[in-house]
Amino acid sequence: MSLAREPERNVERSPSPTKTGRGLRNTGNSCFLNATIQCFGAIDELNQMHISTKKSTTTQDRLLVCVRELQAMGTAYTPAPLIQQIPNLIRYNKGEPAHAHELLIALINDISEPISQLFQGQMVSMVKCSSCDGSMTKTDNTQDISLHIEEDASLSLEESLYDFFQPETLEGENAYWCDTCQTSCRATKTLSYTRKHKILIIHSKRLILGKKIQNHIPFDTTLDLGPYMTPGHAPTHDMNLVGIISHQGTKDNGHYTAMTKREDKWTLYNDAITTQTTMKHIH
Ligand SMILES: [Zn+2]
Repeated sequence: MSLAREPERNVERSPSPTKTGRGLRNTGNSCFLNATIQCFGAIDELNQMHISTKKSTTTQDRLLVCVRELQAMGTAYTPAPLIQQIPNLIRYNKGEPAHAHELLIALINDISEPISQLFQGQMVSMVKCSSCDGSMTKTDNTQDISLHIEEDASLSLEESLYDFFQPETLEGENAYWCDTCQTSCRATKTLSYTRKHKILIIHSKRLILGKKIQNHIPFDTTLDLGPYMTPGHAPTHDMNLVGIISHQGTKDNGHYTAMTKREDKWTLYNDAITTQTTMKHIH
């Protein structure tokens, strides 16, 4: 899973973290939580948010307390405030592994503006009937893009993204009910952005039918969403990669780590262990 953001303009720099950042203690299969928190820690707006009170029990304040602790000096921090919150966010049995992507989206759904707004984009889906050429559009908010990973292909992230936005043919069982034609018709469906995310989460779906696809997916550190904007919408700046959550191992026996970029330096977070790294190592 990767997080990319718009170029920063007038974003105040938060205080520099310790040289390699602060690690997070694993309290028993809690690497999915630790990797997720580290990615939130790479977002300046979160570091600058005010916490209403340390005793607050909202998901947002608990997340902000953990993010704030990443800035402190010292040994690894135990993200207890959020560990307590997980069962309110996702189906979770203490000590059992869970999905970082599921947690990330649940966290975003449970925090308020202006933070939640950072992750929100808006897409329009246009369905065009091939019989009468009539079209219907529907606009929806979206928080991430989930890309299917093909086991026998070696598409880059950019190529998979390109495929995601290609027109999809609706036919057979998926045929489109056209009000004008008053029958089920063959149609094409195309997605495009009317408003892109300030911070975009791209989820590479590696679990298919209970099996994990281990393909390496090449990616770049910048991403151009310009070709996927609805015609007439403002051109966009390239997005810059700021965080990656990776899952190593198999579906049932795996481990999450995170890599984030702050002040042009990349750090690898493996629970309590933090190591400076470079893009060369990440690729
Ligand atoms: Zn029609």
